Amino acid sequence: MNRLHIILGDITTIQTDAIVNAANTTLLGGGGVDGAIHRAAGPDLLKECRTLHGCPTGQAKATKAYRLPCRYVIHTPGPIWRGGMQNEDALLASCYQNALRLACELNCQTVAFPSISTGVYHFPLARAARIAIDTILCSLQAHPEIHCVTMVCFDKHTQAAYEQALAEKEQLNG
Ligand code: ADP
Repeated sequence: MNRLHIILGDITTIQTDAIVNAANTTLLGGGGVDGAIHRAAGPDLLKECRTLHGCPTGQAKATKAYRLPCRYVIHTPGPIWRGGMQNEDALLASCYQNALRLACELNCQTVAFPSISTGVYHFPLARAARIAIDTILCSLQAHPEIHCVTMVCFDKHTQAAYEQALAEKEQLNG
């Protein structure tokens, strides 16, 4: 059974147990997907985020989802791209890993991710997609309780990069 899906869409509309937010380390809201999630969830999300006192890059913290059609929002700050020598690859991988570990602890069976760090944080898209796909597939093996992960891409260019990364991985595995 295929447990990883790549779709084009708006993550705030996805019915799933948890959605992941590409947050910043303050967890107090921002632009991009973070802004969209806060707008759709309503002001109580920010209230709960204030009680969390931020989150380090690559780690993950969960809140309730308020008006969103999911149970939890898992907030994870991705790395800002600074040329590739500042541990960006490992930090991006830990975002996916820690978000899925937390989803598991919360008994989530379905999780949706946005393309972390490839917006205003400028992580190169193809490289981010490969790291995301590798890490999600690896984490799915470690967490059989998670039935399915959906990568929700906001534009076709992003969707194509994740599909390419998945196709490369499948080719490699024969
Ligand atoms: P980061 O700061 O981690 O780079 P951004 O929010 O700037 O985060 O961008 C991450 C990705 O999320 C980008 O591909 C952006 O197009 C996408 N995005 C923006 N809004 C949404 C949304 N509502 N649903 C899914 N993805 C979104």
